[in-house]
Amino acid sequence: MKNSNKCSFPGCKCQDFSFWLYKWDKYCKAHYNQIFLDDLHAQYALWGGKSEPPDRLKYLIGRYYSENVTAFIGKPSLTKAIVHTRSYGWKKTKAGAVFTTIRYPINKRYGEPYANEVHQKWSFNISSMKYKFLSEEKKENLVMV
Ligand SMILES: [Zn+2]
Repeated sequence: MKNSNKCSFPGCKCQDFSFWLYKWDKYCKAHYNQIFLDDLHAQYALWGGKSEPPDRLKYLIGRYYSENVTAFIGKPSLTKAIVHTRSYGWKKTKAGAVFTTIRYPINKRYGEPYANEVHQKWSFNISSMKYKFLSEEKKENLVMV
């Protein structure tokens, strides 16, 4: 990592004080977005769609959410780690992907059945970079010892 605020993109003269880090190199916002999306699209193209996506694709989809989407309290939301490490059932679709995440609720809401896992189904659109909450299922997977 260089010590200046100069963008690492070849030929870019931008000296943005609020640089963005990608693979330990600093970029201006425009070039950060460009190399981020290029990487994400390349990973998406590599994915055959019949098995789990490349680990890096899950990571990038989660990272984009955490850097660009405002999560509202009480509404279904994602985090980088949940998309990357607590997701399953990935399917490649015409628009992008669908996947299911596992959440572990820490509090019980009155009037709702107890669940120690909430499985949420999401879709991701690779053209618009939008995430959509589809459905959720509460599960009680207690292991009695
Ligand atoms: Zn730049």
